[in-house]
Amino acid sequence: MKNRLSLKIIAIILIISALFLFTACGNKQDPSVPPSHDNALTSKVVLFIGDGMGPNHVYNTELYTGASLYFSSFTTKTEVDTNSASGLTDSSAAATAMATGVRVKNGTLALDSSGNAIVSITELAKTDGYGTGVVTSDEITGATPSGFSAHAKSRNNSAEILLSQKDAKLDLLLGSGDYSSVYPNLFAEQGWTWANKFSEVNTEQKRFVATFSGVGHSNGTDDKPTLTQLASYAIDYMEANYPTGYFLMIEGAKIDKASHSGDISEMMLNQIDFSEAIKTVDQKLSAIGGGYSIIVTADHETGGLQKANSKAEITDDLYTTTGHTDTKVGLYFKSTLTTIPEIINKEAILNTDIFLLCKQLLGIA
Ligand SMILES: [Zn+2]
Repeated sequence: MKNRLSLKIIAIILIISALFLFTACGNKQDPSVPPSHDNALTSKVVLFIGDGMGPNHVYNTELYTGASLYFSSFTTKTEVDTNSASGLTDSSAAATAMATGVRVKNGTLALDSSGNAIVSITELAKTDGYGTGVVTSDEITGATPSGFSAHAKSRNNSAEILLSQKDAKLDLLLGSGDYSSVYPNLFAEQGWTWANKFSEVNTEQKRFVATFSGVGHSNGTDDKPTLTQLASYAIDYMEANYPTGYFLMIEGAKIDKASHSGDISEMMLNQIDFSEAIKTVDQKLSAIGGGYSIIVTADHETGGLQKANSKAEITDDLYTTTGHTDTKVGLYFKSTLTTIPEIINKEAILNTDIFLLCKQLLGIA
């Protein structure tokens, strides 16, 4: 009787151990087998953020050039409420809302009011085996790229951002800034390769960060490539390394900067390059085939830009403020999906819904 009981106990222990081992092995990803992302609606998602791009930025640029911006012809559109926990948003709180689904106070990057890190879409995507990348025409430590790649108390503390960024769950980080004293050392420890020339980028690099002396809107050079060149490379990189699925955030930062200084010509040039980057990405993904989604939006409106009635009226005088406004921004969606996701199939959404949309598209629970 006693023997039988101990045999039973041993059998139960064996079954439990076997189950445990089975589950543990099941969770472990074999690196040679790319994840299939079966739960994804589209396993490739590219989020484009035109910093400061309000509806009249789009309208006036189209009136000036006499041509549609590439993304404005996307058939699925809605409006986004851009406010933060502080009310009128800045770019760090806006990036945090889109990256984490949580509205925080201005100045904060993916931290809650107690200073705890809020998990971001790039971290969730990496846990699910996706390739992840952040591309910007701003400095790497700018507020928008940082919202998707760091957790920091202050958007102005680049040392704090860099310390967090080196641990980012990213494969690719591209933008501008002179970090030659920081990246090779600090980031090399975490397995990053670093470059500052566009001729040095290739798709073989693993965990790759490139910071150029600038990112321009036209006539790209080795030191100062264009956003379109960076976006094109980012797709090549992801297709080479994560052909089954990836998440990319690509920011056109200078629509905002030109609008802060009330320079409408510079704003339009940057917006045209932003549109070119979207066109390039869409054409590449369409040629490759398979499911993908492109989301184009802005973090907020900058400059209180008025609508012009004619091309002749398009002057710097259309700006009514040097700061941000709470004007709703557009969201433009293009996808291989035949049904529009419920989250955006309404007249207006919140900036936090963009996080939910990305999560749903990638099939992240
Ligand atoms: Zn701004």
